[in-house]
Amino acid sequence: MIAVSTALLQQVISIPAARAVLRPRSRLAASVSSPRQLSVSSSSRAPQVDPNVLLGMSEQELQKLAVDLGQESYRGKQLHHLIYKRKVKEIDNFVQLPQAFRYDLQEAGWTVGRLPIYRTVTAADGTVKLLIKLDDNRLIETVGIPAEDKKGSKRLTACVSSQVGCPLRCSFCATGKGGFSRNLKRHEIIEQVLAIEDIFKHRVTNVVFMGMGEPMLNLKSVLEAHRCLNEDVQIGQRMITISTVGVPNTIKKLASHKLQSTLAVSLHAPNQKLRESIVPSAKSYPLAAIMKDCRDYFVETSRRVSFEYALLAGVNDQVEHAVELAKLLREWGRGHHVNLIPFNPIEGSDYQRPYKKAVLAFADALESREITVSIRQTRGLDASAACGQLRNEFQKSPLSVEANTLQSESDIAVAC
Ligand code: SF4
Repeated sequence: MIAVSTALLQQVISIPAARAVLRPRSRLAASVSSPRQLSVSSSSRAPQVDPNVLLGMSEQELQKLAVDLGQESYRGKQLHHLIYKRKVKEIDNFVQLPQAFRYDLQEAGWTVGRLPIYRTVTAADGTVKLLIKLDDNRLIETVGIPAEDKKGSKRLTACVSSQVGCPLRCSFCATGKGGFSRNLKRHEIIEQVLAIEDIFKHRVTNVVFMGMGEPMLNLKSVLEAHRCLNEDVQIGQRMITISTVGVPNTIKKLASHKLQSTLAVSLHAPNQKLRESIVPSAKSYPLAAIMKDCRDYFVETSRRVSFEYALLAGVNDQVEHAVELAKLLREWGRGHHVNLIPFNPIEGSDYQRPYKKAVLAFADALESREITVSIRQTRGLDASAACGQLRNEFQKSPLSVEANTLQSESDIAVAC
């Protein structure tokens, strides 16, 4: 959902892939501690937690692992420090740990789980898009967006993907057009944040689950990653936003976790009929049901829900739509916030970007009805990669990777 324009790209830097060496699991691995196994959601085609991956484990779990391998529990604390503070990527480089412990970890098949950055693309305003290579040779994309507020304090936002592709096929979305491969595992989500910190040499201050995929279809991994990002990487819950286009029963489920994070719901239309034409999956989740779930989310968490609205010229960008939207939001509560996203045209789509005048008129109509509004600014990379646009560019013109490392063009999957 972060939009990127290749026209505005300044440079392309290729970073050699430092491939993690996966050691076969020894018999010892079966007899010693293994990370918690999480159940697999119906939409997943792979386990959500890789066995024997350290990234994503809590300090307590790492302490237990150390003890299971015959070490004092404080060795687990050291492991935690090395993974999340020092960001050491290979067990071989855990030089603060006894060699025997490192050896036992490796013998048992453990890896840190860090992934190589395949390529970075930097825009004039400093926004960076990263391609990260997964162990199955798929590429996912994440975006780092630096910003400075009026007081001069720096913010670094990571826009992360939760799936490789997306099954929901929203009509304006390039990712939706590209199909769905699989859910991301928790360490693959966490990796995106750590990789941005590596590139910027700066801590990530905000995380938005607005990249490729529908986070609610991979809720288990998203929640695991959220826990780790909050407790281990130490990003405040209020600095994390989980975005959804709406999947029945999942907002309730998320609310039950009582996170202090923001829920962003992609509405894109003020009524059910228009919404179904833009978001086909809306058929199974009527607008009234979403709005009720959002109201309940607010009651449960005291966190205001933010509503995303992609403005499509001549489709949903008229003042009458804004009036209807204001009415809908006010029916279901107070203090709603709407984030307007002027559409960035994608190839193969009939939708057009709205005129600035229409965007401002839409925003005015909401504000005059006491709905707070922000209009997403087009940043350097914003102009052409609203969710999957960049992937489509790369799919037409595949990255020049080693022939034996990517299976086929269809295996190149990049988020936005
Ligand atoms: S907009 Fe989001 S939910 Fe819709 S198809 Fe794109 S990635 Fe999936």
